[in-house]
Amino acid sequence: MSKIIPVQKNDFVEVEFEDLTHEGAGVAKVDGYPLFVANALPGEKAKVKVTKVGKGFGFGRLIELYEKSPYRVEAPCAIYKECGGCQLQHLSYEGQMVAKEKQVREVLTRIGKLGNVKVHPVLGMKEPWHYRNKSQVPIGEHEGGLIGGFYQRRTHQIINMETCLIQQSKNDEVVQLVKEICGRFGIRAYNEVAHKGMLRHVMVRYGLVTGEVMVVLVTKTRELPNQEKLVAEIVKQVDGLTSLVLNVNPNKTNVIMGEETRVLWGQEVIHDYIGDIKFAISPRSFYQVNPEQTKVLYDKALEYAELSGEETVIDAYCGIGTISLFLAKQARKVYGVEIVPEAIEDARRNAKLNGIVNTEFAVGAAEKVIPDWYEAGISADVLVVDPPRKGCDQALLETILAMKPKRVVYVSCNPATLARDLRILEDGGYRTIEVQPVDMFPQTMHCEAVAKLDFIEEV
Ligand code: SAH
Repeated sequence: MSKIIPVQKNDFVEVEFEDLTHEGAGVAKVDGYPLFVANALPGEKAKVKVTKVGKGFGFGRLIELYEKSPYRVEAPCAIYKECGGCQLQHLSYEGQMVAKEKQVREVLTRIGKLGNVKVHPVLGMKEPWHYRNKSQVPIGEHEGGLIGGFYQRRTHQIINMETCLIQQSKNDEVVQLVKEICGRFGIRAYNEVAHKGMLRHVMVRYGLVTGEVMVVLVTKTRELPNQEKLVAEIVKQVDGLTSLVLNVNPNKTNVIMGEETRVLWGQEVIHDYIGDIKFAISPRSFYQVNPEQTKVLYDKALEYAELSGEETVIDAYCGIGTISLFLAKQARKVYGVEIVPEAIEDARRNAKLNGIVNTEFAVGAAEKVIPDWYEAGISADVLVVDPPRKGCDQALLETILAMKPKRVVYVSCNPATLARDLRILEDGGYRTIEVQPVDMFPQTMHCEAVAKLDFIEEV
């Protein structure tokens, strides 16, 4: 018998919100049936109009707030509602910390069956604004001029943006300048419907410690009109510029970067420091977007690894070798593996740059390379994983359970897949000792966490 849905479209209901969705909407239950309502916060009571009724859940619109959350604040950004890049500006930072800790606990309990694991309060920022070191804006046209900013929530309509409260101000400034200069030189924006035009995205990366600036023009075409003059003008206008790069993406796709990258001026990388380690970063390599909190995260990973100097460590999903190099100083040897070839080139270059000689890097899927290493007799005492949102591949988890490193440090940007993978490791003989959430993405629902697991018993 199918369950009876307790509400109908256009009903008015009085509800109390318990939770937040990943998009930052409030979740209330009517006789166990979840309703998602934008701009509602946990603890709030409200009158809601039901706007859509689905099988398992529905949507509603906030009509009247009866009781406000003590954490509710006025969102400071003027384009908050249209943009969708942030989901939590209407929740105070203190409230965000509470919500993220709860999110981690909740998935560990529900998905990981790990209700008893120690979860520490979130390590947050003192100043949770202007933290992003990378800006990546889609370019469009409006009344004959270039605009750039963001896609309006749930559309492909580009809205112009001059400042973003979570970006380094330097990035905003450079994006504005590049848009203005390209417009002045008659560069046309790419039109994704017609698949015509040139400039698709402008990407800016800023080395917070070094002050070095990289500008990447992502274009459909291999050449730009007046290219030499355009390059000279950008070089003249952008303070701190050390790298100007063209990335060609001729494809009909919403993937931002294409395969071909060409330096137009300066170096092919920019540099930055995390702690006392210097990093070279290529246009297409992953680099954490919040450098201040990255230090906090890596310090925690290092602490959880409990290295004595004798260990062999494997760093899976190593990117440009950030965690590997952080650990190398306290380990005998670190092996890093990563799927993007440019990132591994960066990782090798970064080891040299810092005079670190006890690392070795390989290009490939962690779930292929690590089993090969294991077969070839390379085993880890401590294994660090830092996978993308989808979590670790099953084959990698199986190899970990066969290899049995005495400790696993799991760095995660998605608590749900973290919880899923911890359950698998627990069932294979590991115990989750503690979990530390770190706020890498203030004002958004994204939540990073690092977990420490010890191998306890054969199963
Ligand atoms: N540890 C790094 C990177 C973490 S992001 C840091 O902190 O900077 C995750 C990385 O995993 C990305 O660099 C991505 O390119 C890489 N990746 C994605 N799938 C992979 C796979 N199957 N095997 C190895 N690396 C992968």
